[in-house]
Amino acid sequence: MSTYTKKQVKDLVDGDLDWDTLHKMLSMPKDIERYSNYVSVLQDQVSWDDKIIIPVGPHLYIVETVKDKELVTKCRCGHGFGDYTLNWKLNALVYIRDSEEKMNQVYPKLMAPDTDWQVYREYYCPTCGTMHDVEVPTPWYPVMHDFEPDIKTFFDWVGLPAPVNA
Ligand SMILES: [Zn+2]
Repeated sequence: MSTYTKKQVKDLVDGDLDWDTLHKMLSMPKDIERYSNYVSVLQDQVSWDDKIIIPVGPHLYIVETVKDKELVTKCRCGHGFGDYTLNWKLNALVYIRDSEEKMNQVYPKLMAPDTDWQVYREYYCPTCGTMHDVEVPTPWYPVMHDFEPDIKTFFDWVGLPAPVNA
């Protein structure tokens, strides 16, 4: 098993890790400090003090609030999307590409899906405008809830103390 420094994990997150190290990091068994180093790198990138528990996307996290230890979904900018067990998308701004004109903004002409069969739903942070996710469902399909992690089991698995409200 290889071990890596926090600097190497930061380079991984920033996309600056050299290929040889990246290949070894991906293919070898994970060192026990990997997750805590990863979360520590993410924590250094945000301006707030709530503790990052699990990243949900490149700029979206489940955090434990400093104030009352609640577990909520939070954007990198600090915008809160509510309790982590709820679907954060229901508190996001949504843009739906449901016409040929809207699809042609992101596809070459005649290469887009038929919007009678498939639409794009883009979910944005209401505060900073970061796009956090895109769904590609049939038009009638309900908003997808991507996942609800079992935080306690995950922290047992990575050998770290779980948040008190997990
Ligand atoms: Zn935001």
